[in-house]
Amino acid sequence: MTAPSEPADAALEAAASGAQRRAYAPYSRFRVGAAVRAAGEIFEGANIENASYPLAICAERTAVFAAVLSGAYRLEAVAVCTDASPPSSPCGACRQVLLEFAPDPTAVTVTAINPRGERRSWTLAELIPDGFSGKELP
Ligand SMILES: [Zn+2]
Repeated sequence: MTAPSEPADAALEAAASGAQRRAYAPYSRFRVGAAVRAAGEIFEGANIENASYPLAICAERTAVFAAVLSGAYRLEAVAVCTDASPPSSPCGACRQVLLEFAPDPTAVTVTAINPRGERRSWTLAELIPDGFSGKELP
């Protein structure tokens, strides 16, 4: 759904929106902010690009890494803010990183928003069905 609707987690979405303003995206000009809720706290991230393009990192991953560095390993919800319409979902790499910290991906909601008030949301399980969890590792 892309029509304006009420946020399920207004604080999380506001954090993602605020983080978007701090993105460092001089090359793509595609500014992304993310916020994750973990251990009851909100952790923010933004995309950070580099003149050596492949070294860029996405907003979702910087947010997850901030949570992990604070000792919060279990994601509860994710919000991502871009200027895209409809709002952009996380890339495949970020879906995999989110899955690492989501023991039950059906319980983690990922919401994509933009400044126009459009909103889409999924469970993480919908975004990365049958994802690689590491359970297969020896
Ligand atoms: Zn990504």
